[in-house]
Amino acid sequence: MKIAIQNAKIVAYTDKSEVIENHTLIVEDDLISDIIPDSELNKKYSDAELINASGKAIFSGFANCHTHFRLTLARGIFENESPSNTPPFPGIPRKDLPKISKEEHQIMILLGALESIKAGTTFAMEVAEGIMDYADAVQKSGLRLVMAEQMSDRMYGSYGEPGKIESDPKRVEAGIERMNNLYSKWHGHDNSRITVGLAAHAPDMNSPHSLNEIRTLQDKLGVVSTIHLNQLWGEVQNIIDNYGTTPTKYLEQHDFLNDKLVAAHCRCMSKEEEEILGKFNSTVSFNSAIAARRGLSPNIKDLEGFGCKIGMGSDNMDENMIEVMRMGMFMERVRTNHGREPHPNEVYGWATKNGYKSLGLENGGTLTKGSKADLIIVNLLQPHHAPQNDIVSNWVHMGQIHDVESVMVDGKWIMKDHNVLNLDEEYIVNEANKIAKKAWGY
Ligand SMILES: [Zn+2]
Repeated sequence: MKIAIQNAKIVAYTDKSEVIENHTLIVEDDLISDIIPDSELNKKYSDAELINASGKAIFSGFANCHTHFRLTLARGIFENESPSNTPPFPGIPRKDLPKISKEEHQIMILLGALESIKAGTTFAMEVAEGIMDYADAVQKSGLRLVMAEQMSDRMYGSYGEPGKIESDPKRVEAGIERMNNLYSKWHGHDNSRITVGLAAHAPDMNSPHSLNEIRTLQDKLGVVSTIHLNQLWGEVQNIIDNYGTTPTKYLEQHDFLNDKLVAAHCRCMSKEEEEILGKFNSTVSFNSAIAARRGLSPNIKDLEGFGCKIGMGSDNMDENMIEVMRMGMFMERVRTNHGREPHPNEVYGWATKNGYKSLGLENGGTLTKGSKADLIIVNLLQPHHAPQNDIVSNWVHMGQIHDVESVMVDGKWIMKDHNVLNLDEEYIVNEANKIAKKAWGY
């Protein structure tokens, strides 16, 4: 099966100079097999299905390095209930997430997947406990996924809350079992569109024993790992109180840091910790929207300078990576008092190529020959995309969800002309509203 996408501007990589015109992009099976001058199409690929993308651009789809689809349930509530950034921690408690049934839970997960696809995400790392319960439903969306099964073993209290950290070894055992089961059933599924990752919750939620067990399993399976790191000042205080060190040093002491680790947040961090994380070439998932909502910001340029890879994630905010890119760029400019850096080319690279690499796929996140056919078609014939002096800059500064017309993952369309093909949009949105209304009582 060959698909030829014609007449579009092809954003091969991150740079303005790498926008290719008057060429046709060829998809064969799961790969971008060729990018050829239009004049050669009939000679070389007369059998391909033709897609006319005149007035449009082909961009790489986004890699969302950190999300929790189920937390769509907390929309409209958690955004305004962040913990305190100064003692006493954690400050005014937020509402508990209501208990809902497995079936209801599944709808909220699909709502997150739906929203992701509509905003141009092609690859996401979903972090949660108990992914097995909804793995089949969410993988049917057609998204490329790292299913990162999470484990924590802190018995009393939660992340960012003070108190003596005591481990429940049974939870470690159960967590490792869940990780192994998920790996056996789903890792490598559908041409490796689905892979499994291993998640520790947070330094103040995971004992040295649990970190060791996850790291040992990671080395055995050769997969990516993840953790919420230096997320809150309450976490930092808690690690100092319990272990007499800082969160990143605590992870270093217990051999958790490595180059296949995606560390989410990294906001409440000392220079020494940034340097340590950089030394291990770990990825920082820059979750800009949730960082901004909490009134916190990671030192992205410094972390990158020390050797960290920078990816981007939505966390439990809008599953909209266009906003994540834009907000991340603006936050860094405000933080560093610099009106030119980071440049949109760089931010686009964080949200695409870097993310793919960090989530374990080397040949993805670019539109080059041999790359995975994970791409989006964006309508440029709209006021906010004109004039087209620099379409990458426009995409980062001005892009909107509705610009995304079609989404392809692994050579297959999962959204075509705004229709999400594998999910029932109307049903999911209506059900999600009903579920939330019942759960919260609003
Ligand atoms: Zn998170």
